[in-house]
Amino acid sequence: MIRIDARWLLTEAGWRPDARLLIGDDGRIAAIEDAPVRAEPRGVVRPIAAEPADASADLVVPGLPDAHCHAFQYGIAGLAERAGGHGDSFWTWRERMYASLTSLDAAGLERTATALYRRLRAAGYTSVAEFHYLHRLGGEPGRRASLATALEAAQALARAAAAAGITLLLLPVLYRWGGFGRAELGPRQARFALARDDYRRLIEALLVQAADPALRGMLRLGVAPHSLRACDPEDLRWLLELREALLPDCPVHIHVSEQQAEVRDARAALGQTPIAWLCANAPVDHRWTLVHATHATPGELREVRARGATVCLCTTTEANLGDGFFPVEEWFAAGGRMSIGSDSNVGTDAAEELRWLEYQARLRRQARAVLVDADSPHPGTALWRRAVAGGRLSFGSDRPGVAPGAPGELVLLSSEAGLAPDDALDDFVFSRRATRLAGTVTPAGLRLEAV
Ligand SMILES: [Zn+2]
Repeated sequence: MIRIDARWLLTEAGWRPDARLLIGDDGRIAAIEDAPVRAEPRGVVRPIAAEPADASADLVVPGLPDAHCHAFQYGIAGLAERAGGHGDSFWTWRERMYASLTSLDAAGLERTATALYRRLRAAGYTSVAEFHYLHRLGGEPGRRASLATALEAAQALARAAAAAGITLLLLPVLYRWGGFGRAELGPRQARFALARDDYRRLIEALLVQAADPALRGMLRLGVAPHSLRACDPEDLRWLLELREALLPDCPVHIHVSEQQAEVRDARAALGQTPIAWLCANAPVDHRWTLVHATHATPGELREVRARGATVCLCTTTEANLGDGFFPVEEWFAAGGRMSIGSDSNVGTDAAEELRWLEYQARLRRQARAVLVDADSPHPGTALWRRAVAGGRLSFGSDRPGVAPGAPGELVLLSSEAGLAPDDALDDFVFSRRATRLAGTVTPAGLRLEAV
């Protein structure tokens, strides 16, 4: 049992003063009670006999789920910013990213992922969805992955998450083709491709591992068709049948509409834009996360919202790669579900992702405080709550925040005395003048950051 006392606790119902959270050995919130020591008016402190808390904080808020991550790309974060002199774009960055893989072995992936996951946790993420398509490490390009190489890579990521104490949603990716119309894989893409039978056996092996009660639910599984360019309609059908048989109701994540070239190619190959095609041909529902959706049309977004699917926005990566703007103001105002992702990990700070969602809206609208809710005029609080609720859905959980039975994933903030909780959370998201991250809780336990 872990006991956390909060001056202000952000629950599913809003801010609650002077609360104690009890987190059970299963890693879930067991109860929320009144804190045993309460500050009374005129400064009198009234103690109540109780067990001492393991930690106390000015603010306790749910930890943010990182709903889209490629850990290996952290290895080139910050090192791919130099102009190549020939129209740099997402596609030239992708060549640079592919080239980095020839020198990455399993030990290197584990080191990179461990450093990254620790950093994500120290910056407010308490769970990470690894969109994992690096099914063979090291060696020369051109050789395909096998079950053995895929297991080696998956195990490296699972060990890294365990070392960082961060909950891992592992999304083994089905990657079959180099482009629409069953284009051959390029030599540098061969390491991403698994035969269907090997993919099935990979999922079966990971299912056995994730069921170990000692992991306290910290390793979860979902499925991920890489994109409509890397999975053709038949691959997608096969994958969804496999999900039904082995992992019914598990999360499904897919890259979609990130680049205009992808939208154009989808029109040519499928006769529709990617999200329209997906909604017409797959059972897209609240278990689906559409990653990026940058170039979605208004009609596509209406359909996504009607089906209750989540859009995962990876703003720092999308900005870094020059992808374009997702219409976040309209999506937010319509009550669309959204999660956030660190994606390429050029940015690893959860609050920075939220800040830039709001800032891109301000820059476009020439206005302030755009992404707010009717019951919360504070963008810090509104964005935090939306990103937790959508992020939990991306992880397959229907619990939108802090409540008994919800995951014991928390961020502890210390703040200047006298700040109202909404002001303190705004400060943490936008400035950090007076509010800082003091610790995190995951099912692996409590970790306090050094002051
Ligand atoms: Zn991605």
